[in-house]
Amino acid sequence: MSTYGIDLGTTYSCIARLDANGNPEVIRNNEDDSNTVASVVFFENENNVIVGQAAKENVETDGERVVQFVKREIGKRDARTYEFDGKTYTPVEISALILTRLKNLVEAQGGTIEDVVITVPAYFGLEERSATRQAGELAGLHVLSLINEPTAAALSYCARQFQEDRTILVYDLGGGTFDVTVLKMSMAQNDSGRDVQKITVLATDGDDLLGGKDWDDKLYNHILRACCDENGLTPEEVEAETRQDIRSKVEEAKRKLSKKQSAKVRIDVNGSRTEIVIKRADFEQMTSDLVAKTMNFVDATLEKIPAAAIDTVLLVGGSTYMPMIINAVEEKFPGKVQQHDPDQAVAKGAAIYASMLVEEVDSPSAADDENSADEKISRPEQLTSKFTVEDQTPRSFGPGVVDMNGAKHKYVLENFIKIGEKMPAVFTKTYYPLEDNQELVRLRAFENISTDDTLIPSVDEDGNPQATDPAHKVKLLGELIVNLPPNTSRDTPIKVTFKVDASGVHVEAVNTKTDEIFETFLRTESDIDVERSAVHQLRISSD
Ligand code: ADP
Ligand code: MG
Repeated sequence: MSTYGIDLGTTYSCIARLDANGNPEVIRNNEDDSNTVASVVFFENENNVIVGQAAKENVETDGERVVQFVKREIGKRDARTYEFDGKTYTPVEISALILTRLKNLVEAQGGTIEDVVITVPAYFGLEERSATRQAGELAGLHVLSLINEPTAAALSYCARQFQEDRTILVYDLGGGTFDVTVLKMSMAQNDSGRDVQKITVLATDGDDLLGGKDWDDKLYNHILRACCDENGLTPEEVEAETRQDIRSKVEEAKRKLSKKQSAKVRIDVNGSRTEIVIKRADFEQMTSDLVAKTMNFVDATLEKIPAAAIDTVLLVGGSTYMPMIINAVEEKFPGKVQQHDPDQAVAKGAAIYASMLVEEVDSPSAADDENSADEKISRPEQLTSKFTVEDQTPRSFGPGVVDMNGAKHKYVLENFIKIGEKMPAVFTKTYYPLEDNQELVRLRAFENISTDDTLIPSVDEDGNPQATDPAHKVKLLGELIVNLPPNTSRDTPIKVTFKVDASGVHVEAVNTKTDEIFETFLRTESDIDVERSAVHQLRISSD
């Protein structure tokens, strides 16, 4: 079976598939003796690039040749690039190296990997999503789809213990991000009228700059201070090597404190060996503000859905191994907390989703395939479209069109699909060419976070919309080119459709006179002709 689910994490990544019985299993990273691969890349020299724990071990000694937290950069407009040995790498290329490492895990164990589902944070916009997909393709993977991380986690929970009409809160505290999502499990009928288990996302929130790393930083400062006290030094007097020594021992100490009441670290402080003992109680005290911060997000998310009573809280993300997290969540939701492979749940859910998608597209002709016998064993019948997922849109989306109502023509953004709406979402509206004999329409598609029906995107002096609008985070995503035949009248209806799912946005226009369909979407960065003309627009019907 060659279908896999990938959790491409900020700090750790994980890959999973379904075993012969249809149960999700993680592909072990034997080299690091772990279920995950550190999302860290070390450019040792021009011939050797290392991904994983070994790369992480160079952070302190060779930091400038190490790339971490690349997920924070992927798909960002002003994303930084990285340069090593005369070669420039984009965040997409770095992510592809991490994905390649995951792919190699499978291949090293004799497996083949083709179709994958990659997970993304629920808050990722379109560009982050397409960049993630691109990274997959660059790594030689066929990306069937993307799925939101909390939804994937819920799917793996659902597959283990589905209960009808239950509301679940997913508390995901990873290495660099915190997300909270409320979902509902229910029974529903799918398109072919079959009863399926349905996951509906009700609300989502979080902080993309809060995670295990913040716990590491607190512990680092604590150990540094203790080293100073022990040796009668000021922090300024501590040598760089000592700082590096502390940095490299912090995460391990933190993990130890999840199991034991205290952890001992030995640090070489300016040449003299110093032993520091950290008590769990002290660690919990120094990080209690971070725990409180996550609980504030939980409260804010619950406020969005006042009627929902939470039945189960699912702890996801490596940082939920910390007893302080389990205790804080347990205190708020007594008897409702569940934790099951928190660092693997997302990848496992993605594996379940991937195999669902393959089931859906697999036609009976698969029987001709020589591997079909194996395929049957590895894709158990009970899994066939057992689930359906209704997520929420991460942004609002719509086209830019001309509004002819009133004295002056106005260029407006019509928000077809609004942030937080049911996803997949589809919206269609008919517009008209601005003028008779117009040859071309450059239909611009925008993303934003406003819930207004229309927005006026900020425009430059030529009346062209700016790519970004900070208040509503308006982003020009690209343009759909619609060629009109000669003598097209300005009353020709052009039907515009936006489709949004976890994988991205699909924009389509149909000339209803000729039935010609237009789908060629030009992405902003690369192919859009900057010479825009107001003539190349569609207008809202003024009748
Ligand atoms: P990501 O944020 O990349 O999705 P994970 O969900 O795997 O990654 O979470 C990684 C974080 O979990 C790291 O900060 C790591 O130090 C932390 N972590 C992993 N195991 C433990 C543990 N046993 N105790 C405390 N923290 C842990
Ligand atoms: Mg994660």
